[in-house]
Amino acid sequence: MEWTRSETLAMAVPSCASCYGTGTHGVKNGTPQACNCVFRSVFRACYARFRHCSTKEKYLSKVSLEYTARGGHRIWGRKDEEYVADFTLVSRRTLAPDEYRLFSFHFLLGADWRLCCRQMKMDRGNFFHAVYRIEQKLGKVFRELKPYALFPLDEYFNGRAETGWRPEPTPQSRMLALRPPLSPVWALPKAA
Ligand SMILES: [Zn+2]
Repeated sequence: MEWTRSETLAMAVPSCASCYGTGTHGVKNGTPQACNCVFRSVFRACYARFRHCSTKEKYLSKVSLEYTARGGHRIWGRKDEEYVADFTLVSRRTLAPDEYRLFSFHFLLGADWRLCCRQMKMDRGNFFHAVYRIEQKLGKVFRELKPYALFPLDEYFNGRAETGWRPEPTPQSRMLALRPPLSPVWALPKAA
């Protein structure tokens, strides 16, 4: 997929030594490539939302109605729970076993660098390099995932837009045919 210039610019780190805040770094097949700082920003935004969804009280979670790509049907879903599941499953699928181990210690279980270094027998420098690599890898995947990306978050939570697909309008005839269930007269209890 292609990153737009406005997207990379919005997510770039102004002090980045690679892209100097432009968000693009290098060109591949004539297309400017997004900088690693953009991928890290995407990951951090997704991770902040993951923490919010997984720690907030369950009664605050909402049920929402959404369109599906198959024939424009509508289904009910719990977005927060779906997002938490997507975030962890995509991460597990994307990362190598060693990376996933570090990811689950640090990002899922909340262990700080000291604890992770002791547990994984690595030094501080290697730990932060590994964390950067994980953030870059996952940020890229979260944005480029098909057919539904985890980022941008507002698109994920407020209606998923799949390229080339739009929900069909509800036929008027169906709307007019709404009939509430009524008890037939003969089913009513007879007066004594
Ligand atoms: Zn950069």
